[in-house]
Amino acid sequence: MGDSADIVIVGAGIIGLCTALQLARRTDAKILVLEKGVGPGEGSTGASSAVCRFKYTRPETVDLARDGIAAYQNWSDFVGLKAPLAQFHRHGVLWFADGRADWPAQEVARLASHSIRAAVLDDAQLKERFPALNPCAIPPDFEGGESHMCGPGGLHLLELDGGYMDPVDALQDLLASLREIGVEVRFRAHVTGIETHGGAVLGVTLAKGERIACGQIVNAAGPWCNDIFSYVGLDCPWPLKPTRIQIVHVDRPAEVVGDIPVAVDPLSGIYFRSQSRGQEIIVGSILEEDEREAIERPDDYARFVEDDFAQTKLHALQHKIPALSIRGKVRGYSGLYTINATDVHPVVGKTAVRGFYVANGCSGHGFKLAPAIGSLIAQEIAGKGGAFDTDVSPAFLAFDRPPIAVASKSVLA
Ligand SMILES: Cc1cc2nc3c(=O)[nH]c(=O)nc-3n(C[C@H](O)[C@H](O)[C@H](O)COP(=O)(O)OP(=O)(O)OC[C@H]3O[C@@H](n4cnc5c(N)ncnc54)[C@H](O)[C@@H]3O)c2cc1C
Repeated sequence: MGDSADIVIVGAGIIGLCTALQLARRTDAKILVLEKGVGPGEGSTGASSAVCRFKYTRPETVDLARDGIAAYQNWSDFVGLKAPLAQFHRHGVLWFADGRADWPAQEVARLASHSIRAAVLDDAQLKERFPALNPCAIPPDFEGGESHMCGPGGLHLLELDGGYMDPVDALQDLLASLREIGVEVRFRAHVTGIETHGGAVLGVTLAKGERIACGQIVNAAGPWCNDIFSYVGLDCPWPLKPTRIQIVHVDRPAEVVGDIPVAVDPLSGIYFRSQSRGQEIIVGSILEEDEREAIERPDDYARFVEDDFAQTKLHALQHKIPALSIRGKVRGYSGLYTINATDVHPVVGKTAVRGFYVANGCSGHGFKLAPAIGSLIAQEIAGKGGAFDTDVSPAFLAFDRPPIAVASKSVLA
């Protein structure tokens, strides 16, 4: 072998880079991140809406979200940069009323038990805080497209400390931080093979033929993770399916006044948030039926947005933001979730192959969870704690865990 490292991380998406940083802060081991792309953000992370919300059904997932989001809320400290590019946009995460009155107050209490602040808003409070939003709880007519006379909404839930990040800026900051502390992140470095001997990893091979000896490898290859499993010869029991996910974005006209939070409308099946300093609004789906287009080869999928999808989601968006006139061209893009079809939770940690670790199957949760997932892997490899650790047990997401019982297999899991 030519070059060598102690730990090789395959993939410089948000999972790979957060893991590298969490490791570098607690071990002197030589860490090398290998990325096949020419720059950051070519995988799922570059397309991510990077919404940071807390409301998950499982208490451990709520804690992982809380611990991951804490890193984004304290980004300058997490990355150790005085003037990072990315910032946490703490606009709150609003869950619109869905016709049931009881759940927002229950959620406030449940989230409080995880030290997460949330509040119930009635329609008047919603309008006062977010004047552009329509509380109406009558779902839009998706069949005929008819408009209706809007009615009351009811009770809504606001996660006060939720928000979003710019995902590519976050990657740039992580890169800068890693370089500052001496971790090499190598682009155009496509891992095409893994050498093992006696059930342990020995090193990786790159497309150009170079071999790099290492004792530990982290599979952080996002939608390409199954390639890495095949190189190491490990039969992955989890169906980790790259899945095409569409996003629409529109300009925000001046008539849309006031703050726009991250918002989720269970009745019409959309979420939306502002971006580009509030100049645009992006909208995506929370419906399981929009998460079914499995992709055979992650390099080869339609990057555009379908007209049907765009029209349906914009119809729903206009219902929630009535002043939104769609004047400009409707644009959009597609990216890939890697959905763990068994229980929509990631698999994280060691495997039966000595030195081979995984952090895969993050579905639509991976951005917010990344610092916590990095912490789990770093605790396991380095054997010690550090700043921005999660105290969720590694058993919860372990590779050899039983499936987690979930109420929904959509992004809302
Ligand atoms: C449209 C969309 C919206 C989303 N919205 C949210 C959201 O609101 N909130 C949230 O928390 N999550 C969201 N997600 C999910 C989240 O973005 C992903 O879970 C997360 O980005 C996964 O990060 P990753 O590092 O595992 O994967 P990636 O970002 O795909 O990184 C993997 C990297 O590995 C590299 N690689 C692959 N194979 C090799 C190889 N053999 N050799 C070298 N390099 C390799 C790839 O080039 C890639 O850069 C969204 C995802 C999408 C697509």
